[in-house]
Amino acid sequence: MKKVNSILIAFIGIMAVWYGINQKNIVLMQSLPSAATFDTTTIDTLEWNKPRFEERKKERNRMVHEGIKERGITDSAVLEAMRHVPRHLFVPQGYQQFAYENQPLPIGHNQTISQPYIVGYMTAMLELEAGEKVLEIGTGSGYQAAILSEITPYVYTIEIVEALGKQAQERFKTLGYSTINVKIGDGYKGWTKHAPFDAIILTAAPPEIPQPLVDQLKPGGTLVAPVGRTSETQYLTKVTKNRDGEIRRQRKLPVRFVPMTGEVQHD
Ligand code: SAH
Repeated sequence: MKKVNSILIAFIGIMAVWYGINQKNIVLMQSLPSAATFDTTTIDTLEWNKPRFEERKKERNRMVHEGIKERGITDSAVLEAMRHVPRHLFVPQGYQQFAYENQPLPIGHNQTISQPYIVGYMTAMLELEAGEKVLEIGTGSGYQAAILSEITPYVYTIEIVEALGKQAQERFKTLGYSTINVKIGDGYKGWTKHAPFDAIILTAAPPEIPQPLVDQLKPGGTLVAPVGRTSETQYLTKVTKNRDGEIRRQRKLPVRFVPMTGEVQHD
């Protein structure tokens, strides 16, 4: 029994050191490689640049094939977006080796970047098209926003944790995701200046979807959010607004997301 205890203590110790190193890496992770090349996408008269990265491309292709496509996500724009965005450059250095596994990863400040399958699933649910305007609540690392920016150049994203918002902004600049607009603040009230949106995605879970966000959805638009308190089962929920402004809600997958903080917790 004593032996088991000391093994356990040693294990906890190793984990603590490992965690410490990773925390440090969050601060140290500054020198990102910028895009080697850019692709220009032109749809009708719409044109925007997308950064392209050769590094770890094979692993990305395998992740998309095995972790997303073979699990039933067929939307080719989503699959293509996920083949291009270098997920390893959105996570702290200590976790980069796991970036193409199908798992969520810590990004500091008690937040996590979702599992790639869930990112693919939620993005496909939005049915986003080039030229449409999309709002994300919960920028985090910026990975989801970068995926959205592959599909449309009109991406707006709000982050409540200032350090994360600023880091994402820097990352977009360094990597070349020049079309993404970041705001630091509570996403509860959406982004009135740019509303209405064709699509809205929440990547933190509110107990209930904030009404201002539903109000900022265009008729014909789709909102996707994990809904539920941390203590209950959360469900990915799809909210659609039809041409007459009627709202329809559909529960999809049970999921586990970090809570949406700020005003929504005081309702
Ligand atoms: N989409 C992110 C993952 C985000 S984790 C990515 O791709 O990396 C959820 C994020 O939502 C966290 O960064 C958290 O700080 C943020 N968040 C929580 N409540 C929020 C609120 N009220 N407004 C804006 N952002 C919020």
